[in-house]
Amino acid sequence: MKGISGKNVLVTGATSGIGQSIAVRFAQEGANVAINYRKSPEDAEDTEKLIYKACTDARCGCEGREILVQADVSKESDIVEMFAEVKKEFGGLDILINNAGIQIPGEAHKIPFEEFEKVIDVNLKGAYLCAREAIKMFLDKGNGGSIINVSSVHQIIPRPQYISYSVSKGGMQNLTRTLALEYARRGIRVNAIAPGATITPINDAWTDDPDKKANVESHIPMGRAGTSEEMAAVTAFLCSDEAAYITGQTLYIDGGLTLYPDFLEPWSGQG
Ligand code: NAP
Repeated sequence: MKGISGKNVLVTGATSGIGQSIAVRFAQEGANVAINYRKSPEDAEDTEKLIYKACTDARCGCEGREILVQADVSKESDIVEMFAEVKKEFGGLDILINNAGIQIPGEAHKIPFEEFEKVIDVNLKGAYLCAREAIKMFLDKGNGGSIINVSSVHQIIPRPQYISYSVSKGGMQNLTRTLALEYARRGIRVNAIAPGATITPINDAWTDDPDKKANVESHIPMGRAGTSEEMAAVTAFLCSDEAAYITGQTLYIDGGLTLYPDFLEPWSGQG
């Protein structure tokens, strides 16, 4: 895609699932990729191997570099250090992908407050703090930049039993729109993707069980869950020159989940 080769990209939560596929996709497009891991560099080994394999198989001549950068995105000091490392290694940043995310289920009136806070700290505060550091680096360089927030269909669809997750993704929608407006004149675009049900480790509870998977997929108009590669492709598009006039938007990648599927069949004899 036009305008990604040679760019410096940081992907948070790049050790599995959607973040991993985004890191691979940007490497294939010729970008320099900073792969964020939370705990140990070994956790990022699979991502490095996949990048190597994808670039070798495609003979794409990708000439980007990969670096591993540690940060627990719920900790401000980790984030500041991570961006300093990216600056030291790459000299600057062009694209931030705020992907790291968690969910903790539980009835809203019963969950411990620490669990509520933990989800908000990672999914929303972490995304804001990473955006803050990225914007400083974009402004320093003076060439603009692009941020993608990996949100969810649950930024607009309420999700009972997941109050902290719903709140975090609802907040992410206005994080995206507000930053987009605030920095539009300075060449910084801020957009989001909103995946629907996607096959990644966060969904082990149903992806590994054929009956549960069939039940989930029965609710999706297109009849199947999405893949992390499909999420990565749209992310790359939004960061490319092809999307140069798009800012403040969320692209829903959900097989039609946000189309009120219950209305497919008429609710009464009259249609
Ligand atoms: P995943 O496979 O569980 O990946 C989550 C990633 O985030 C992992 O690399 C994880 O690393 C990292 N992470 C978690 N807490 C972190 C922290 N404090 N600091 C840094 N990294 C942290 O799940 P996924 O499905 O790919 O999710 C990625 C994003 O997509 C999330 O924001 C999620 O809300 C969103 N999303 C997913 C779906 C879906 O159906 N899969 C749908 C809508 C939105 P560790 O394993 O080391 O913690």
